[in-house]
Formats: sequence, structure tokens, C-alpha cells
Amino acid sequence: MAFKRRFTPRRKFCRFCADSDLPLNYKRPDILRDFVTERGKIIARRITGTCSHHQRLLTTEIKRARQMALLIFTSTHASDVKKKSTL
Ligand SMILES: [Zn+2]
Repeated sequence: MAFKRRFTPRRKFCRFCADSDLPLNYKRPDILRDFVTERGKIIARRITGTCSHHQRLLTTEIKRARQMALLIFTSTHASDVKKKSTL
């Protein structure tokens, strides 16, 4: 399985601080999806580089998005996740 690396390890910065136009809202699952894994887990701050303030907001919005069924809880709930080999 090819893992798509979105964030380069050496250049870390908070995307929400860097781009004030980037909405941090549960209504934008397309953006929130960048901060969760394929399996729907929230990616740790040390990986994404998001600052503590925005990570906190992000976590809240992701959880809210889950309740609104805009984001997946696990990969089993997603219809668009390709079948993964468990072997
Ligand atoms: Zn920030």
C-alpha cells in the first residue's frame, strides 16, 4: 500500500496560522480530512505541525464533523476507502 505523504518532515508549520483564509470548521471535511488518517484517526500535532491552539480547535471540529457524519470514525464505515489487504 502506497502511503501518500502530505507533510514533509523538515518543514513544519501550522497551516491555520500560515493561511488565515483556511477555514477550521466542521462544515469543511475536505480540509479536516488532511488532519486525519485514512482510518479516521486524528493525526498528532507533532506530525502535522499544527500549533496547540489550532490543534485543539481542530480536534473539536473533527469530533463535531464525525457526529455530523461528515468524517469517518473508522475505515470500515467509509465507502470511498479502497479495499485493503489484511494479509
Ligand atoms: Zn495555528
